[in-house]
Amino acid sequence: MAAWHATTLTLYPEMFPGPLGLSLAGRALRDGIWSCETVQIRDFATDKHRSVDDTPAGGGVGMVMRADVLAAAVDHVLEHRPDAPLLAMAPRGQPLTQALVRELAAGPGVSILCGRFEGIDERLFEARPIRPVSIGDFVLSGGEPAALALLDACVRLLPGVMGAASSGEEESFDNGLLEYPHYTRPVEWEGRTIPEVLRSGDHARIAAWRKSRAEADTRSRRPDLIARQGDARRPPPSGAQPED
Ligand code: SAH
Repeated sequence: MAAWHATTLTLYPEMFPGPLGLSLAGRALRDGIWSCETVQIRDFATDKHRSVDDTPAGGGVGMVMRADVLAAAVDHVLEHRPDAPLLAMAPRGQPLTQALVRELAAGPGVSILCGRFEGIDERLFEARPIRPVSIGDFVLSGGEPAALALLDACVRLLPGVMGAASSGEEESFDNGLLEYPHYTRPVEWEGRTIPEVLRSGDHARIAAWRKSRAEADTRSRRPDLIARQGDARRPPPSGAQPED
């Protein structure tokens, strides 16, 4: 089977595979389960200074990555990896979800454009099939750590990367809930004991406890996830609140 391939377009190719060269992802990389390739955006600059950015139209601080240089780099990747979806890491993008991670992991791989400076000339997104993706409502200094996070989430789902035990139908977000909390020995630590039900050996009770903790913790910590589930269930348009 062909390896799942990751191509990142970046000004800092040395950042890859970075932490993904270690632990689970690193072993999978050495085993040929996935491959990690970088494209240096600067190689596609055309002027004598090899510039990839320029000042923002309309004024303001910082620099903006040029559409023409990025398009040349993107076209190179689209030609070499035509089957891989092309994403750009961008705070203005679609929020990354476990559903999108699963979709990407199930495909042939992914190509990821990493922004720097103030971001990317908007015309690039109009002119090329690029899906902007955000990893959260905070601002990084560059797309590379965001790409590493996305790749980590995908690689752990590739067949053969994790043991069968943890391949994770019950993980956080898969069913719209946070996962239940975990415990391990020692049974008593600093006066706190592992919940009795988890030591009961009664699998039905354990499953029921885990389900109710997952629901309760999601309700208190992440009401937005519950609201989203309600949105998915509710036939549009309706102003009704979800029941739970
Ligand atoms: N001025 C921009 C931030 C630019 S940060 C704004 O306010 O929206 C520089 C680069 O870091 C971005 O182009 C993007 O590639 C990356 N980046 C920063 N935060 C990110 C996030 N939350 N998710 C994905 N990429 C992010």
